[in-house]
Amino acid sequence: MNEILLRTVRRVGTSGAPADVRIVDGRVSEIAPTGTLDPTGPDTEVVEAAGAWLGPGLRDHHTHFDQWALVRRRVDVSTCDSAESTAALLADVARTGVTDRVLIGHGYRDGLWPTPARRELLDQAAPGLPTVVISGDLHAVWCNALALEYFSAVVGRPLETGDDGVLREQDAFDVTGALSQVPDDLLDGYVADAVEAAAARGVTGIVDLEMRFGLDRWRRRIHAGADALRVSSGVYATELEDVIGRGLRTGDVVDGTRGLLTMGPFKVVTDGSLGTRTAAMTDGSGVLAWPFDELVAITRRAVDAGLVPAIHAIGDRANTLALDVFETVGTRGTVEHAQLLVDTDVHRFARLGVAASVQPEHAMDDRDIADRHWAGSTDRAFPFAALERAGARLLLGSDAPVAPLDPWISMAAAVGRDRDGREPWHPEQRMSALAAWRGSTDGRVGVAVGDLADLVLVESDPLASSSAGLRAMRVLATAVAGRFTYREL
Ligand SMILES: [Zn+2]
Repeated sequence: MNEILLRTVRRVGTSGAPADVRIVDGRVSEIAPTGTLDPTGPDTEVVEAAGAWLGPGLRDHHTHFDQWALVRRRVDVSTCDSAESTAALLADVARTGVTDRVLIGHGYRDGLWPTPARRELLDQAAPGLPTVVISGDLHAVWCNALALEYFSAVVGRPLETGDDGVLREQDAFDVTGALSQVPDDLLDGYVADAVEAAAARGVTGIVDLEMRFGLDRWRRRIHAGADALRVSSGVYATELEDVIGRGLRTGDVVDGTRGLLTMGPFKVVTDGSLGTRTAAMTDGSGVLAWPFDELVAITRRAVDAGLVPAIHAIGDRANTLALDVFETVGTRGTVEHAQLLVDTDVHRFARLGVAASVQPEHAMDDRDIADRHWAGSTDRAFPFAALERAGARLLLGSDAPVAPLDPWISMAAAVGRDRDGREPWHPEQRMSALAAWRGSTDGRVGVAVGDLADLVLVESDPLASSSAGLRAMRVLATAVAGRFTYREL
């Protein structure tokens, strides 16, 4: 019998009276005032928590985990404010000697660049080296001439651009997809590192919406010891029939993974993104990926097979259509992103039982782009308070690698809508600390007897922290089913 006694914790959701918590065989078995629990079991490990705050383990409800594991190893260009400075940073890296076949930058945001990207800037930055820079929202890839040649050969058709060297949408996805094709053992090593990094931020569970169905990869990784996270692995339309053929239903636990791996949702992408100006808008601009009838048909097919839909919608038109799909099919699920909503749609989430799966840090990354491209509409962009007031269930995520896989960053952006010392952006749409917290766990606020011991111990009360305090929250320990996955105690 595995037994842990956490001594002197303060519980999130309470006034903070010190308590001791006993964990037996992966579950919380007793909670009592500090000093009143007998620590003298033969196998009892006593952990002095010294007043740390104890809460349910954290969840990131929207990740692209393989991409995140890869991106953590690429050149981060997200702070570059022009095409020239991006190229200059890559030139610096190229000079130090690149051992990989392709030089990869990640995270450019050209929405506010004074002049657009040009292919020749990258030709000059890394002579002789195929060089690509992936946009922060993954919908565009800026390439030099060698990279266009290289990836045309890899994907098997000519990839053509204008003078900008920028591939968009499917062409961009094909290139990022090819970049993800690293050998399994290498990728598994990157993933194992990223799993550890997530645990160090208090994460015990993720929803993985990797475009290539990941269930079998995750089973292999968990077997190999990358077992610090519960993973819900989603599937896209391209592999939907395989999943249905295997009889996998959302929530099914995969055998032999100690309950860590479950079948995730059916993910379907309906429009583009804000940064790439491809979000589908009520003014008719943007891109719709599916005719409505086909979207209804494939969603119904998935639902009939036991899969819960997760529908990507960014523009206001795309969100209306996503909600229409849920209403037509008559199912619950999630709208992923829900970035721009018309007022009449805000109440539909709660009414239809559809959760808004939001990524608050995108609002911080894209506030200036939204002010420009969604001018006059930003009072209904990332409308967290409106959704909360309307009773919608809010789920928080990072969309890693678009934002770092760190729920404290998401919570900070949700409750503060501020970053970098700037004034808050539309502070009237701040989320309450309670909603941000519940949206970052499995819905629980605090820890109770009988709960699965997926736990996090942190330095301060998350419900009483400033946005800056949340962003920099110190995590002291993380546990999955009573097993420490990260600990400083
Ligand atoms: Zn995503």
